[in-house]
Amino acid sequence: MSWSSLEQFRAKSDRNVLRMQAEKKAGRKVVGQYCIYTPMELVLACGAIPVSLCGTKNDSIAKAETVLPRSLCPLIKSSFGFALEDSCPYLAASDLVVCDTTCDGKKKMFELLARRKPVYVLELPQRQDAEALVFWQKQLELFKGKLEETFKVNISDDALWQAIDVSRRFRAALQKVLDLGKRKPSPLTGLELLEIAFRASFMPVYEERISELESIASEIGAAQAAENTGRAPRILLTGVPTGLGSHKVIKILEESGASVVCIDNCSCYKKVRPIPSEQHDPLALLVRHSLAIPCAVMSPNPNRYETVAELAREFSVDAVCDLTWQGCQTYDVESYSLRDFVQNTLSLPFLQIVTDYAESDVEQLRIRIQAFLEILS
Ligand code: SF4
Ligand code: SF4
Repeated sequence: MSWSSLEQFRAKSDRNVLRMQAEKKAGRKVVGQYCIYTPMELVLACGAIPVSLCGTKNDSIAKAETVLPRSLCPLIKSSFGFALEDSCPYLAASDLVVCDTTCDGKKKMFELLARRKPVYVLELPQRQDAEALVFWQKQLELFKGKLEETFKVNISDDALWQAIDVSRRFRAALQKVLDLGKRKPSPLTGLELLEIAFRASFMPVYEERISELESIASEIGAAQAAENTGRAPRILLTGVPTGLGSHKVIKILEESGASVVCIDNCSCYKKVRPIPSEQHDPLALLVRHSLAIPCAVMSPNPNRYETVAELAREFSVDAVCDLTWQGCQTYDVESYSLRDFVQNTLSLPFLQIVTDYAESDVEQLRIRIQAFLEILS
């Protein structure tokens, strides 16, 4: 189905790089980041544009493998390959690159990246308890100081509240679009949900991205629901980040007859976690909100199970598919406990897919996915 708001959004987001370069020419700074634990609100509050640098393309991996081990996660290799090739306009535009100490592979890659770009390492704790919150608060205070020193600005509480307001409205607008997947049938495919979240995340002007997302949600939300033939199994995709270029598994699922109605990763649904409406200390609010992100780099990671249970219920899914990039030990190990939880607590079928960005295993994956979907019918 064709939607005019979506076509307009695609046309506008095709110009994301040019818009970002124009903003930079006009004096705005750009801060690259590799993880959503870095609160983008801090970057917005200093007047800069936050951009994601996580690589989603296979093309840059061969170059990365001249330096990095082949067994490393494709997301890390793709990201680093772009740096070696100097082929990512967002990395090229970044005045500062923030690197969270998430997994071991990323940490070690960042050491090499620091030879090429001004890197700021943000020490992410691996737990989410009270001591970790104190530690994270200190880290974000230091990061705030680094932004102030680098860009010669003062980040006031007012500026932080304004950034939080923009972020809240962006999260709400994106959630309205992603929640369209709750309909039966979903009016958007999983690939479209991913495409919208991915393209929106590179729109440098937040007010524009909010209004584009609102238009999509409003046009599609008002349209009459299609007849529900009830044949497509509804899938919740969880696990590692995906983007345009690393969407292989979503594509195969949907080509095989499934409907990916919700994508619970940091490219999609993790991005819309609402910021609670507290009015006390904006930095402390960001500290608590960001550290609670349910990523497998946390040990333990209880919020992930709660989130999967909630999304499975809200999106009425028939099964959960857990995507793991090869070489990602945190998500790979956690898949065991997640399977146990999904099968035995939620009583839903579960499939883990371990793969990379290459196309070489597409037919093998297709056979496994088709066999899995057959048991759902
Ligand atoms: S999967 Fe975890 S470590 Fe990776 S970008 Fe998302 S939040 Fe960060
Ligand atoms: S997918 Fe896993 S290995 Fe890859 S960057 Fe994220 S946490 Fe690290």
